[in-house]
Amino acid sequence: MAKIVAVLYPDPVDGYPPKYARDSIPVIDSYPDGQTAPKPEAVDFTPGELLGCVSGELGLRAFLESQGHILVVTSDKDGPDSAFERELPDADVVISQPFWPAYLTAERIAKAPQLKLAITAGIGSDHVDLNAAIKHGVTVAEATWSNSISVAEHTVMQVLALVRNYLPSHEWVTTKKGWNIADSVSRAYDLEGLTAGVIAAGRIGQAVLRRLKPFQVTLAYTDKHRLAPDIEEELGLQFYPDIPALARNVDVLCVHAPLVPETYQLFNEELIGTMRRGSYIVNTARGAIMDTGAVVRAIDSGQLAGYAGDVWYPQPPPADHPWRTMPHNGMTAHVAGSTLSAQARYAAGAREILEAWLAGKPIRDEYLIVDGGKLAGTGARSYTASGNGSSPGSTGL
Ligand code: NDP
Repeated sequence: MAKIVAVLYPDPVDGYPPKYARDSIPVIDSYPDGQTAPKPEAVDFTPGELLGCVSGELGLRAFLESQGHILVVTSDKDGPDSAFERELPDADVVISQPFWPAYLTAERIAKAPQLKLAITAGIGSDHVDLNAAIKHGVTVAEATWSNSISVAEHTVMQVLALVRNYLPSHEWVTTKKGWNIADSVSRAYDLEGLTAGVIAAGRIGQAVLRRLKPFQVTLAYTDKHRLAPDIEEELGLQFYPDIPALARNVDVLCVHAPLVPETYQLFNEELIGTMRRGSYIVNTARGAIMDTGAVVRAIDSGQLAGYAGDVWYPQPPPADHPWRTMPHNGMTAHVAGSTLSAQARYAAGAREILEAWLAGKPIRDEYLIVDGGKLAGTGARSYTASGNGSSPGSTGL
């Protein structure tokens, strides 16, 4: 019998939805690199339901309880008196989501002697101290690819929203009940003909480049490793050797690099000051890649024409976080990767991981971040440990 603690975001303020905007979602069988979508033995939910919140329970309760396991679901995750901390000491498995991260710090892992598996329902396990997981023999797994395209779509949406001044134009006809054409268009441009750059052409970054191409923009990117020449040629990509070189040569900059010490607070006043006046930044990677105050000052001075994204630091941000109220922002909460479409995939991924682990079978290599006391699978390719890892505990981020 295992005890599984799932930390999920709170239900909608009006309660769990009795019905949905659409009757079904498309079935996605595989991802752009050929990896197959999650294939658990069964699921106990209807794809398209709200699964990521407390009442959604990632659709796991019937499956786990039918096998005699205990499932505890809570959204109360922060501080020593939280339900999460109370449930941790005898937990075998913790499930969390980057949107509402249950930070598994070294201190918390030390308080959970039975903990053997930490599942990220989604992508991005930087809320887990990977060094501590390695040291305590905790396996860390995530549903690789499950929401990468969801994030890429959100990024493109926010690029268009900023460049075309969509949100203020919408507000003029709705909240303000106006018909203010000049007010709306005095900051609106076409994306066509601009130069759009992507920092890190991994799964999300490359999907963004592919989705921006039909807009007839000039495309540029930087990454630690250059893409294959045929991909550069197919997408017409200009490669820059580092982030500063890319930043000063584009009009629109999309950030898709992980949060690691070298990207922490990278976008400070100095770097933003080298960008073209009136540039736009869309950051759906991690909030702490930006110096919060530098972004606000650049918006106020006009150095940046707009800033958007769905990641903040800290998260959730306080009510008076300046990005909530600064002009020309298109911010959302951390929602890009939690569409109903994505939830169906990462809930199925969490179930697939649990089915394998409970049966003593290997977890798919592409889902593994840490296993057997070391970085493994996708983790060995995308994460670092030993003091320069991407986890909050190891970096102090
Ligand atoms: P991938 O691992 O597929 O790609 C990351 C890319 O970043 C790799 O190509 C890597 O290069 C490159 N890279 C790493 N460090 C640097 C650096 N210092 N400078 C430039 N490039 C660098 O990740 P994903 O595309 O799946 O995700 C990207 C980020 O998006 C995640 O780290 C996460 O923070 C965020 N994310 C946000 C979500 C959301 O809901 N908003 C959801 C999922 C992820 P190489 O491999 O060649 O070393």
